[in-house]
Amino acid sequence: MAEPYVTVEDVTFRYPGGPSGPVLALDHVGLTVDRGEFVAVVGPNGSGKSTLARMLNVLLRPDEGRVRVGGLDTRDDANLWPIRDRVGMVFQNPDNQIVAAIVEEDVAFGPENRGLPPEEIRRRVDEALAAVGLTALRHRPPHLLSGGQKQRLAIAGALALRPVCLVLDEPTAMLDPQGRQEVLETVTRLCREAGVAVVLITHFMEEAVRADRVAVMEGGRVILTGPPAEVFRHADVLRRAHLDLPPAVHLAAALREAGVPLGADPLTLDDLVDELCRLYSTT
Ligand code: ADP
Ligand code: MG
Repeated sequence: MAEPYVTVEDVTFRYPGGPSGPVLALDHVGLTVDRGEFVAVVGPNGSGKSTLARMLNVLLRPDEGRVRVGGLDTRDDANLWPIRDRVGMVFQNPDNQIVAAIVEEDVAFGPENRGLPPEEIRRRVDEALAAVGLTALRHRPPHLLSGGQKQRLAIAGALALRPVCLVLDEPTAMLDPQGRQEVLETVTRLCREAGVAVVLITHFMEEAVRADRVAVMEGGRVILTGPPAEVFRHADVLRRAHLDLPPAVHLAAALREAGVPLGADPLTLDDLVDELCRLYSTT
């Protein structure tokens, strides 16, 4: 069997910290991501999600344990840029990630920095803009874009380096519902159609249910991991970690309590509606 593309093995990390000494941010964390896999990471504030994300493209390195990307160890300086080309990052604030005054120039920034030939840069910019649905807006100044469009631009910037894996740290946290949906759909399509592996950090459980696998973090540890259907069955563990259940799981529990004999465990509202139609259709 092929080895996972990204492996985080028993990683511990402390920030040098402030007045009260070092802060233990990751405490023996393990995580794997296969090629083309969609992994969601959820957890309360301060549980170590962003620190874990920073480990994946060598913004941080483990104190103990190791992180490997496509077989390359993040501890080796020679692997820094090869790994950053393979793992693209998208952060929470859309405005902080824009570097150019025109959409297409912003997407070209990464490939230009890598010294690629102009023909190749053009090809990659076209491809990345098409992949996020921004081709028609390529000559726009980014500050005129909506929040969702700006995050799609940030995703295009990452895609222009043709990453194997995209890591998105709460990319929808500052967006309105429309923007959130645009970003989630873009990310899901990139994973399902283009085969890009995705690590999506989110506090929206209705986003996490779209993943192949969910990892739940608390206090610098991964306390639960598995397919969404399995993870969201542990309502008690999630509640103790001060996490929500996905809206459809909540609603299904309430309906069951009210006597509706739901058969399956729906994770999305679409699944729940399907199940209700199946139960109550008379044809
Ligand atoms: P999350 O993304 O889940 O909110 P973080 O990875 O940002 O969690 O933080 C994990 C822990 O590390 C928290 O206790 C946080 O206060 C601490 N921390 C994060 N960044 C720093 C930093 N730059 N310096 C010191 N402590 C930090
Ligand atoms: Mg964070």
